[in-house]
Amino acid sequence: MLKIYSPTGQEEKLASFLAETLKKLGFSVEIDEVGNVIARAGRGHPRILFCGHMDTVEGVIPVERRRNVLFGRGAVDAKGPLAAMIVAAARHFAERRGGSITLAAVVDEEGRSKGIKHFLAHCKETFDYAVFGEPGRAYGVSIAYRGRALLKLTIRTEEGHSAAPHLFKNAIEHAYKVLEDVKEAVEAKAEDYFHSTSVCPTIIKGGKADNVVPGECQVIIDVRIPPNMEPHQILKKAKRVAESYSAEEGIEVQVKLLDSIKGFEVSEKAPLVEAFKKAIRKIAGREPILRRKTASCDANLFVAERKTPTVVYGPGNSKLDHAPNENISIPEYLQAIKVLEEVLQELTSTP
Ligand SMILES: [Zn+2]
Repeated sequence: MLKIYSPTGQEEKLASFLAETLKKLGFSVEIDEVGNVIARAGRGHPRILFCGHMDTVEGVIPVERRRNVLFGRGAVDAKGPLAAMIVAAARHFAERRGGSITLAAVVDEEGRSKGIKHFLAHCKETFDYAVFGEPGRAYGVSIAYRGRALLKLTIRTEEGHSAAPHLFKNAIEHAYKVLEDVKEAVEAKAEDYFHSTSVCPTIIKGGKADNVVPGECQVIIDVRIPPNMEPHQILKKAKRVAESYSAEEGIEVQVKLLDSIKGFEVSEKAPLVEAFKKAIRKIAGREPILRRKTASCDANLFVAERKTPTVVYGPGNSKLDHAPNENISIPEYLQAIKVLEEVLQELTSTP
C-alpha cells in the first residue's frame, strides 16, 4: 500500500489494488462512482463499519524498512490504520466468527471529504458500531472530536486617496476591530481545552493599491467548537456583531459560514469503548488512553448523520501525520491488528 503513491485525487491505483486484495480475502467488493472501495463480509448483527482513507498528502517518501520501522508516505496517516482494519476483519471471518463488516476505503479525506460524503449519501445500511482508522497508537482510542465553524468576514468602506486618510474609513483598520469583537463574542474557555471554543484568524486580505485607502478587507476565522455546540450558533453570534456595525455610517460588515462540522463524543462507558479498553488491556498489557481530539476528521461527518457509536483507532504516532519522515513501528502495527481482532470478537460474541 505504501509503494502505491496515492495523494488526494490519485487514489485509483490503490483502489484497484485493495479491491483485488479484498476479493482474495473473501470480501464482496465494489468501487463506487467517486472511487471508494466498499467491501462486505459476514452476515447479521452486529453490523460494523470500518472506515479508512486511501489518500495521503502530497510528497513521496521512499518506502524503506529500517529495523522495526517502516517509512513511507501514508505510513501513519492513514494506510497503517487502514491495513490493520483490513487484516483484522479478514482474520475475523477466516475464523468463521459472527456479525457483519462493511469496510470502506474512501477517497479525498485530506481534501473535501468527497469519499465519506458520497458513502453517506448512497449507503443504505445502518450500523451498530463504527471505527474510523486514524493513528492514535495501538494503546489509544479517540472517543471525541471537536467540530468547526469556518467564518468569512467581509468589511467594506469607501475608497479614497491615502494622502488624506482622515476623510475615509479604512476597511483594514476596521477589520481589526470587527475581528476583536467577533473573537470576544465567540471564544469560550471551558474547564479543559477540548470543551473550549477556540478562535484563530487564518487569512486576511485587503487593499488594492499602495496609495488607495482600502475599501474592502476579508478575514477568515477558523473556529473550533466542542461537541455540545452547533456551528450555526457561532454564525449567529458573529452575525450579531456584524449587525452592531449597521448603525455606523460608511461601514458594512458581512458574515458567511464557509464550512461547518459538528463535533462528537461517545461515552467512556459505551460498549464499543469498553470493547477497546478490554482488548488493549489484554493485548498491550497496559491501561488504554482515551483521547479527545481538538481537530476533526471524516468520523465527524459520519456521526453527524448516522448517530452510530463511533471511535477512531489506529497504530502510529499522529505527530508524524503529513511529516517528511512519516513512519510506523511494525510491532505496533501488528499489535493494533490484534487489538482490532479482539474488539471484533468481543462485539460479535456479546448478545
Ligand atoms: Zn488521516
